[in-house]
Amino acid sequence: MKAYGKYIAAAVSVIFFLTLLFAALPSPREASASTSGSMVEIRASGLNVRTGPGTDNPRFHVLRRGTYVTLLSRQGEWLQVRLPWGTVGWVFGGNGYTSLHPIHQYIRTTASFLNVRTGPDINHTRIYQLPRGTTAPVVDARNGWERIIFDTGRVGWVSGAYTESTRTGSGSSSGSSGTSSRGGESRTGSLQGRTIVVDPGHGGHDPGAVGRSFNLTEKFVNLDTSLRLAGLLRDAGARVILTRSTDVFITLGQRAVTANNSGADIFVSVHANAHTNRSIGGTETYYNTAFRPQDSRRLATLVQQELVGELGLRNIGVKTANFYVIRHTTMPSILVELAFLSNAREESLLNQASFRQRSANAIFRGINRYFQ
Ligand SMILES: [Zn+2]
Repeated sequence: MKAYGKYIAAAVSVIFFLTLLFAALPSPREASASTSGSMVEIRASGLNVRTGPGTDNPRFHVLRRGTYVTLLSRQGEWLQVRLPWGTVGWVFGGNGYTSLHPIHQYIRTTASFLNVRTGPDINHTRIYQLPRGTTAPVVDARNGWERIIFDTGRVGWVSGAYTESTRTGSGSSSGSSGTSSRGGESRTGSLQGRTIVVDPGHGGHDPGAVGRSFNLTEKFVNLDTSLRLAGLLRDAGARVILTRSTDVFITLGQRAVTANNSGADIFVSVHANAHTNRSIGGTETYYNTAFRPQDSRRLATLVQQELVGELGLRNIGVKTANFYVIRHTTMPSILVELAFLSNAREESLLNQASFRQRSANAIFRGINRYFQ
């Protein structure tokens, strides 16, 4: 029952998340009008994000200590912030729960994959790699190294030898990979202007696979991961079409028609797996040979590589299959199976927002490589 309650809470939070995502995205220009540009470091062990300033507003997310989010405006001790994937909410900034870091400048990475380290020299541990063209706010600098906010609001150091400064006025500082302004100024990223259909599998009365430990549903995992992926792609300048952005049922035919009518460059369907043998686990990616087989296989290979590298689960590999949505879509198309909900360990991983964010980051990097 406890686990079930947790799932309800997750479902409720996703509804608020969606409401905010589609109703309350501010333009970066509005944001920069009200502040000079600061990042908010979360110092409380878990800080509630609410839909408005004040504890009577519903909570829809909890930020971990050490996360950085973008300051948009203030109302007394309440701070309006943008979360790493673009959602806007309010946190209580008093009581030492937060600290503000003015943004010195923004940088854009110029190396094909730039290492992010825990400290300002190469002897520090590598914690991430940023694709070329990623922009990020700088909150500190030392000995030619820059302390940046990246990925899901994390902080790390990059060598200034592989970055160039970019206009601070370009607005967005969400810290996501590939982040630049949403406003459409010139970008060098390969995703600029691409149309990408993201297809969260299942939905509504079709839950897909359901885990036994947490009653975690595949439709929730697919949608949450897809929304995170869509945010990353949009930040990088892509036009993203989601076949569904809420918990609704859509037929397979509708999904394919949406994709084929959209002029999409690629189609990415997001799923989680299940097997009657509960010891089976791992990640696999499918494509179909009916349309654009070579491009589909290349996309599948790159995304699978990134997923396996990031998530560290068993590499089941890239395979062909006759799944409806990849057979009937005419552009290069793939279907990813992130992990197995039937496997207890993998269900508990899929149940973590951080794991779903890392899944989205990995798919994003695979797509980015496909267009390079
Ligand atoms: Zn599925």
